[in-house]
Amino acid sequence: MIITDVEALLLRQPGALDTTIADGSQDALIVRVTTDTGIAGIGEVDSNPTVSHKTACGLRSLLIGEDPADIPRLWQRMYRGSLYYGRRGAAVHAISGIDIALWDIAGQVAGKPIHALLGGSRRDRVRAYASTLMPEKPADVGRVVEEQVENGFRAVKLGWGPLGQDADLDVALVAAARAALGDEHDLMLDIGKGWVGQADAIDRANRLADFRPYWIEEPFMPDDYPSYRALSEAIAIPVAAGEEESTLLDFERLIDSGGVSVVQPDVTRAGGITETMRIAEMAFKRGKRPVLHAWSTGIIKAASLHVLAALERAEYFEYCVQTTELNQRLVAEKFPVVDGYVEIPQRPGLGIELDTEVLELCLVREAR
Ligand code: MG
Repeated sequence: MIITDVEALLLRQPGALDTTIADGSQDALIVRVTTDTGIAGIGEVDSNPTVSHKTACGLRSLLIGEDPADIPRLWQRMYRGSLYYGRRGAAVHAISGIDIALWDIAGQVAGKPIHALLGGSRRDRVRAYASTLMPEKPADVGRVVEEQVENGFRAVKLGWGPLGQDADLDVALVAAARAALGDEHDLMLDIGKGWVGQADAIDRANRLADFRPYWIEEPFMPDDYPSYRALSEAIAIPVAAGEEESTLLDFERLIDSGGVSVVQPDVTRAGGITETMRIAEMAFKRGKRPVLHAWSTGIIKAASLHVLAALERAEYFEYCVQTTELNQRLVAEKFPVVDGYVEIPQRPGLGIELDTEVLELCLVREAR
């Protein structure tokens, strides 16, 4: 027997819904899983069937008619209005995207770049590291690293791919990266949750120490805070994590329980520009190093750069160098790297324009 279809059916009580009361029986999301035998199963998700009740509203419905300048109030409105299905994960990711768009509007209205609305810019440029995937074979690592140095970077992060599968292979890959990068540039490693077990991880990290990683990122699954703490306490190499966390509360837990020294909020996941500023300020107060996670389009690049401009310290900007249309061409601005630095955008709002041709090319009209 195989599954032949999965449908989500949105049902609503006929007539007008009362969204002022917490009555989730006014609408429902029914799931129907069909098989090739004719047997079908049904399920229900009491979560977010678009506009619902007081604590499970669609985000759009919470914003229509509101003043976009009220960013902190709208952030709270979205957070509280999505409590049933939100608080973390996809709902906070969606809030993040809306929050960035609200800041873009605020900047355009004020005729100022977003960093000017975040307390003012402290720098015109920020150091960037090239962020890309670890090649499968040690023999291919040198070419990837050299290409990024030729592109102007003075620091490179290699992540995921084969890292974590085999301790000897980890060493061979990292040795190849350090050899290609030379002694002067920074080398970040992203294990991509590939290590299992505290003793084994400590052993593996110690074997990589000769190659002087700038940090070791996300060696464990994100919920494994005890392992993060054990590794952080056992090795001198900084341990980094946080790209899966959302909201200030998650990052407080990551620091309190995980004990990592580098925290990596992603402005498109952690709660937008609003919450990323709060997370970074909290991290500074606790003697930690916030270094924003950023992967994908020029939108996240611009949003991250505005935040980095306004922070009291901006250690590094993560610069995704993947060759996809979305990363390279969706945003017209190219963010050139010169001697390892990227300039902070200075035009109003995010200061970017979407390339409508690329937007059209990549637009999914029907998603299932
Ligand atoms: Mg990562």
